[in-house]
Amino acid sequence: MLGLMQDWPLLVHRVLDHAATYAGDKEIVTRSIEGPVRRTTWGGIHNRSLRLAKALTKRGVKPGDRLATLAWNTERHLEAWYGITGAGGVYHTLNPRLFPEQLVYIANHAEDRMIFVDLTFVPILEKLQDQLKTVETYVILTDAAHMPQTGLRNAVAYEDLLTEADDDFDWLTLDENAACGLCYTSGTTGNPKGVLYSHRSNVLHAMAALQADVLALSNADTVLPIVPMFHANAWSLAFSVPMTGAKMVMPGQKLDGESVYNLLEGEQITMSAAVPTVWLMLLQHMEANNLKLSTLKRVAIGGSACPPVMIQKFEQVYGVEVMHAWGMTELSPIGTIGSLLARDRKKPFDEQLKIKSKQGRPLFTVEMKILDDDGKELPRDGKTFGHLVVRGPAIAKGYFKGEGGQILDEDGFFDTGDVATLDPDGYMQITDRAKDVIKSGGEWISSIDIENIAVGHPAVAVAAVIGVAHPKWDERPLLVVQLKPGASATKEDLLAYLDGKIAKWWMPDDVAFVEAVPINATGKIQKLSLRETFKNHVLPTAGRAA
Ligand code: AMP
Repeated sequence: MLGLMQDWPLLVHRVLDHAATYAGDKEIVTRSIEGPVRRTTWGGIHNRSLRLAKALTKRGVKPGDRLATLAWNTERHLEAWYGITGAGGVYHTLNPRLFPEQLVYIANHAEDRMIFVDLTFVPILEKLQDQLKTVETYVILTDAAHMPQTGLRNAVAYEDLLTEADDDFDWLTLDENAACGLCYTSGTTGNPKGVLYSHRSNVLHAMAALQADVLALSNADTVLPIVPMFHANAWSLAFSVPMTGAKMVMPGQKLDGESVYNLLEGEQITMSAAVPTVWLMLLQHMEANNLKLSTLKRVAIGGSACPPVMIQKFEQVYGVEVMHAWGMTELSPIGTIGSLLARDRKKPFDEQLKIKSKQGRPLFTVEMKILDDDGKELPRDGKTFGHLVVRGPAIAKGYFKGEGGQILDEDGFFDTGDVATLDPDGYMQITDRAKDVIKSGGEWISSIDIENIAVGHPAVAVAAVIGVAHPKWDERPLLVVQLKPGASATKEDLLAYLDGKIAKWWMPDDVAFVEAVPINATGKIQKLSLRETFKNHVLPTAGRAA
C-alpha cells in the first residue's frame, strides 16, 4: 500500500522560491570582479534567475543542455545556476585552475552549449575557443560598460542577456531525478570524470547539510562561502543557505588573508567554509597584524586534512568553532563532519582536539564502512585501516557518459579511494588516498598523521609525506617540507619535533626541503608529482637494515 502524501518533486528552484517568499529582503553581498561591492537580495536573485531562465529558453536552451560556468563566487554565478536549472538545463562548473587541455577535454566531453565566464577568465577562453567545438555562445558575467573587446563567439554581456526577457516565467516542471549540475573530478590519473547531480540529490544533500550536527545554518547566520562554486558543488551552500534565507556574502576573486578578513569583519560573517590553505592565509594575516574576529562563530574546514594546530588556533585564540569536514565531488560533497557527541563535549580541550582532528561522523544520508583488499568489512575499532566505501541518495552511481564503467560494488557502495579508520563512536579518520598509502614491511603508515604534526612546527608552511623505495622495508616515509618565508629548520630539528608524537616506526627516514610543495587545482598536495621528483632519492637508511 502506498502512502497518501503529495507528489512534490524536489527541484532546486523550489529552494529559491522559498528564499524569495520568506526572506525576500535578506541581503546577498558580492565583492564584484569589476571592483565595487554589489548588494542585492534573495528577491533580487529570484527575479533575475527567472529572467535568465526565460532568456535562455528564448535562445533555444532545452532540458538537459549543459551550460558551463567559469567563474568566482558572485551573485551572478548563483543566478546562473538557478537560471540554467530553472530552464531545465544543467549547470556545469569549470575549474579555472585546471590546465587548458583539461578544460578543453571537459567542455568537449560535456558538450557545453554556452559558457558563462568572469572577466578574469576571458583571456583563457579566447585562447581555447577554436578547440571548444560545441560552445555556441559566451556570456561574459558583466554589464555593457565593462564588456571587454573580445573575439569570443557570440559574446554577450550577462546584463544584456537579462534584458532579453522579463520575469514572467514558470520554472520548467521536471522529474526530481532530472540532471541538475555537472562537476568533473580532477583525477590524478586518467581523464577527468563527470559527476552528474540531480535536482533531488542537490535538495536532499542541502537538507542533510543543514542538520544541527552538520553545518547548523539558520536564518540568523551570515554565511561566507569561500569554497568555490567551481569545486565540489560549493559544499551545498548555494542550496542550503537559501533554504534558511540567511544573508550570504560572495567573496569574488580575492581570497588572500587580508581580503577575507575584511569581509568577515565588514559584513559581520557568522559562518564560513573553505579549504585549509585559505584559512592558513587568514590566520597568518591575523597573527601578523594582531587582529581579532568579532562575529565569526563557526568555520567548516575540509577538502584536505585540517591540521590540529589550525583547529587549536581558531578555537582557543579566536573563539571560533571548527567543523572539520570530509567529502568529495562524488558525494555532493559532504560525507562526514566533526561535530562532537554529547559526552565528548565535556572532555578537556586536548582530548577534544584529538577527536576534532579526525574527519568526523557521517551525516544522515551517508552510509559508510571500511573494507579489506578482498572486500570484507573491517572492524570499527579506530585502529584498523581499510578502503572507505559509501552509499546514499546524494552519492554518484556512475560517471557522465559511463566513463570509468561500473563504480559501485554489488551492495551498491562506492569506493572513495580513501583509506580510513572508523571508531566505535562513528568518527572516521582518513589516513591516506589508497594510492598514497605508505607500506612499510607490510604495515601501513598514515602520511596525513605525520603531515598534521609536522605543520605544527613553527617554521613549516607545508608538509608532505611520501613513500620512497627501501631495500628492506619496501617503502619508508620521506618528509618533504616547504618552510615559511624567512624561517629556517634542519632535518634534525624536524625529526626531534616529531619524536615522541608518532610511533617510532612511523618516523620519516629522511627530510627533504623544497621551494614549494606542488598543489593541484583543488588545493590538494600532488603526491604523484612528489613521488616522481623523489623516485631516485636514496634514503640514508637504505644502506643498512634500518
Ligand atoms: P574532491 O572530490 O576534489 O573534493 O576530493 C575529494 C578527496 O579530498 C577525498 O577523497 C579525500 O582524499 C580528500 N579530502 C577531502 N576532505 C578531506 C579531509 N577533511 N581530510 C583529508 N582528506 C580530505
